[in-house]
Parts: sequence; structure tokens; C-alpha cells
Amino acid sequence: MKNRPLIVISACLAGEPVRYDGTDRCDKGLLQALRFAEVHPLCPEVGIGLGVPRPPIRLMAEGGVVRVRGVEDPALDVTDRLTGWGEAQLPLLASCDGVVLKSRSPSCGVAGVPRLLDDGSEDELGMGHFASFVQAQFPQLPLADDRQLQDPRLLAAFTTAVKVHFSRSERQGDE
Ligand code: SF4
Repeated sequence: MKNRPLIVISACLAGEPVRYDGTDRCDKGLLQALRFAEVHPLCPEVGIGLGVPRPPIRLMAEGGVVRVRGVEDPALDVTDRLTGWGEAQLPLLASCDGVVLKSRSPSCGVAGVPRLLDDGSEDELGMGHFASFVQAQFPQLPLADDRQLQDPRLLAAFTTAVKVHFSRSERQGDE
């Protein structure tokens, strides 16, 4: 039984240098705000073996289907590998109380992720592949990205939702 909520977080936000260029995006303010919970860092792109550093990838909207491909080498299609890796995280996701992901990433971004369209133009209507997977598998799980949580009201709402999720899962564990 957990004694506090568990939050899955993008590893780069937690300070791990796992971005494509070998940097991190450590967000000390966010980590401070999440101290009420245990955080579990993960990185989908490292998880599928892309390594650090690695060629960047992006979302490509292809006739209504979104794939994740290499920026420099579009023949590199990691969509199915990301799905398989996401499926391997199902036990962890089922046991956590919230997910905080890195904004604008083709893997992690929760909203407003750039997508290359068929006509060569770009929009910002995408959702990162892992974020999309989490939302589809666990629609009730609190999910946000770091940019959203810069808004104090959204951070407060997310924190409350995580605590409610935790207390409900504790009650179910008692039954
Ligand atoms: S945004 Fe997601 S995929 Fe990209 S480095 Fe951070 S954890 Fe890894």
C-alpha cells in the first residue's frame, strides 16, 4: 500500500539529461510543488532505445493518421515502438495517481504539439504519442504538462485531482 500519491513524470523535467540533445529541462519549481507525492521519472524515447543524443523526431499528420517520424529521416517511424513501450508501462500507469509530461514534445506534450501536415505546413494541434496513449488508456487519470502547470489555478486543480485519485485508490484497497 502506498503512503502517498505516485506521479509519473517526464524524466527531463525531473532533471535527467535525456533530451535528444543531451540536456534536461529540470523544473525545480514544479518538483517543489509535487513534493507531496512520490515521483517516478520515465522517458519514452530513451525507453524505446533511441539513445542520448539522438536525431530529433516529430509528429506527422498523414491523411488523418498521426505518425512519429525522424525529422531528418522520415523513413524512421517509431510510432509502433512507442506504442509497445507504452503498453509495457500499463502496470505503472495503473498504480499511479497522476502524470506530468513535458510540453511540446512529440512523445510527451499534452496539447499544442507541432505537427507536420500533408501539404508541408505545420499546426500546433498535436498531442504527444505517450500523452495520447495515457489519456486513451486511463481517461480518468489526472494528466498535465509543465506549461499548463505554470498556471497556479491549473496546478492547484491538478494537485487536488491527484490527491482525490490517491484517496479513492486507497479506499478501494481497503475494500
Ligand atoms: S520530453 Fe519526454 S521523450 Fe522527450 S526527453 Fe523528456 S521525457 Fe524524454
